[in-house]
Amino acid sequence: MPLYDFTCRVCGRTFEAMAAMDGGEEICVCGGSARRLVSVGRGYRADGDWLASVAAVAEKDSDKPHVRAFLAEPSRANYRRWIRGEGIRPLEDGESRRRATTPPAVSHEVLERFKARRSRV
Ligand SMILES: [Zn+2]
Repeated sequence: MPLYDFTCRVCGRTFEAMAAMDGGEEICVCGGSARRLVSVGRGYRADGDWLASVAAVAEKDSDKPHVRAFLAEPSRANYRRWIRGEGIRPLEDGESRRRATTPPAVSHEVLERFKARRSRV
């Protein structure tokens, strides 16, 4: 069975679990039910970590549509909507090689969380 990312409806934790292709819910360590992140498959492990770290910094109680959409479905498409809605311009391909400009504070925080997650693996 393939590995999938799941996100808990109760505590928001994201974890991997083996699941049938048509499987739905898993149970989180907190006992809550977790739904599968359909658009963040195992081919996108780096994105999975990235998206989870963005979800961690997004305002949970915000009523902005782009924030609600991202938290409801943390996909790459909704990540792009979120970043646009927050006024953060994503880097274009190859742009990171240019001289760095001052990054927005949220991007820096997301990057630090991302690094912290990676170093734990
Ligand atoms: Zn949970």
